[in-house]
Amino acid sequence: MGLFGGRKTVFVDADILVIGGGMAGCGATYESRYWGRDLKIVCVEKANIERSGAVAQGLYAINCYMGMQWGENQPEDHVRYARNDLMGLVREDLGYDIARHVDSSVHKFEEWGLPMMKDPKTGRYQREGKWQIMIHGESYKPIVAEAARKAATEVYNRIMVTHLLMDNKANRVSGAVGFNVRTGDYHVFRAKAVIVGAGGASHIFKPRAVGEGMGRTWYAPWSSGSCYALPIQVGAKMTQMENRIVLTRFKDGYGPVGAYFLHLKTYTQNGNGEEYEKRWVEDTRALVGEYIDHHPVPTCLRNHALLKELAAGRGPIRMVTKEAFQDPHKETIGWENFLGMTIGQAVVWASQNIDPKHVNPELTTSEPYVMGSHATCSGAWASGPEDYAPAEYQWGYNRMMTVDGLFGAGDTIGGTAHKFSSGSFTEGRIAAKAAVRYVMEKGRDQPQVSEKEYRDLEKVIYQPLENYRVGRNEIVAGTVSPSYLLPIHGLQRLEKIMDEYVGGISTNYMTNGQLLNRGLELLTMLKEDMSSMGAEDLHQLQRTWELHHRLLTSESVTHHTLFREETRWPGYYYRGDHMKLDDQNWHCFTLSRYDRDTGKWAMEKAPVYHIID
Ligand SMILES: Cc1cc2nc3c(=O)[nH]c(=O)nc-3n(C[C@H](O)[C@H](O)[C@H](O)COP(=O)(O)OP(=O)(O)OC[C@H]3O[C@@H](n4cnc5c(N)ncnc54)[C@H](O)[C@@H]3O)c2cc1C
Repeated sequence: MGLFGGRKTVFVDADILVIGGGMAGCGATYESRYWGRDLKIVCVEKANIERSGAVAQGLYAINCYMGMQWGENQPEDHVRYARNDLMGLVREDLGYDIARHVDSSVHKFEEWGLPMMKDPKTGRYQREGKWQIMIHGESYKPIVAEAARKAATEVYNRIMVTHLLMDNKANRVSGAVGFNVRTGDYHVFRAKAVIVGAGGASHIFKPRAVGEGMGRTWYAPWSSGSCYALPIQVGAKMTQMENRIVLTRFKDGYGPVGAYFLHLKTYTQNGNGEEYEKRWVEDTRALVGEYIDHHPVPTCLRNHALLKELAAGRGPIRMVTKEAFQDPHKETIGWENFLGMTIGQAVVWASQNIDPKHVNPELTTSEPYVMGSHATCSGAWASGPEDYAPAEYQWGYNRMMTVDGLFGAGDTIGGTAHKFSSGSFTEGRIAAKAAVRYVMEKGRDQPQVSEKEYRDLEKVIYQPLENYRVGRNEIVAGTVSPSYLLPIHGLQRLEKIMDEYVGGISTNYMTNGQLLNRGLELLTMLKEDMSSMGAEDLHQLQRTWELHHRLLTSESVTHHTLFREETRWPGYYYRGDHMKLDDQNWHCFTLSRYDRDTGKWAMEKAPVYHIID
């Protein structure tokens, strides 16, 4: 088959195009229909929304629920909590906006059939912690997807979106293109507004699990940074991309520890059976000052203590489960927690003869990930809510990026950590409401789609198939060719660069200006080689475009890390040449803008406004 032989071009027109049908995308699709009864709402997803995204295999807790109906928490409390955990730097307007609406999303989940655990005494949702409520969540994603499916005019599954389209006369989005990963058909979506909800980024840093285990990461292995790369490509400003997350998790299976700490009241100790966190308080104070005295202790600082203890030679760090697991109720919860969410951890324990009733399992820190919805807040710089955002954070519609008509939610939007599954869905709803208003107010003023742009992109998108078809004739065996690079080789090269130069596991999360600059040089060389990617089939073509997205995300992370000349979050990464937190110069957001014509990145600072006392 030649470059275009047998391949159809499918044109789809939409009022609102939602890219990525995960938690945020489903929320956006659902809410778009609520406000835009007669609009054409299209959701496009690279997998199948029934089981796609970070919630694919289910969750055991909804981590963001205020409980306002019972006076448990108020939105202001959540802003304070997130601000504290992020060492002061959050978009309080965006966080407040999610917190004030998130409970209503959770109530909808229950109405749609999600089994919620209830406290037998009070009848309220069973709390795991101050913000978390417990669910029987194996089917969380299909339940949410059903609501989106019923709301959408059309859902296109199995379409990998590779690029956004732009009106060539304005800074305005006009749609997106991608290809069907099963049929190879080329899809051109023309849209009046686009909402990006395409997940975070794993596999940009070398994972702890390599070789045959490399698919096992904490964040979903299919989160390929599209939510960042798509807006970056068209010049949307990004924020806090240096704020990567490192998680303390059960070793080898990345099993979450939240239910263990919060509900089972387990605790950690070093290899000698000693409590170790207090030992590092003074050391940490020397780096970050009074932030170490905050309650709760920010997540990154707890990581820091663990890393220091390991470096002092007193590993392994273990979770003390033996005591809690003597209680049959807690033992059940401990296992169910994994069976409904991270079944792989239960399998790892079984295969390694670890019964947590008799053996305290090891913990470790993960490789870094980039995301905007969990405990960190990388992502696009977005306009805030009209009634709450400071003037400097408002240039149009709520959750609109710095490109007209381009909205985002969930991992896509920066500055708002701790939204999790429920907050991401809620932010999707918020973005959708604004996007509908945008479309209605624009009326007949519609963005123009350029045929030249989507035809040029078509050539670029499918070129790796052609590279492979021609280049494979140069080799008779093996996978290494003189004329093309396979996606797996490109991915491993990327992960190695990020790991060694940008603060991954092999340097104990340490980097500095020289390393970052060298990392950027190596990333540029990899970028140059990307035109030689070879894809054997459509699956590998998808891998190629995921790699493109991961690479652009990585470049962004590296530029941001270089720009912020301090160590704001020890335990997530360290700038060896600026080891201290520097509130005087860096109590600010970092912003970047990529120019796709020159390949240059422009960096700037933006103020952090503390709206809530
Ligand atoms: C291991 C783990 C445990 C977690 N535990 C909890 C928990 O206990 N409680 C909680 O509330 N939250 C938890 N979370 C967080 C929660 O899952 C995320 O906050 C939430 O899923 C983020 O929503 P999102 O829509 O931004 O991304 P996702 O839900 O990941 O959705 C992104 C979607 O975009 C699609 N996509 C990506 N790229 C493209 C492309 N190029 N073209 C088309 N489609 C694309 C993906 O396939 C996916 O469907 C956990 C996450 C993980 C990974």
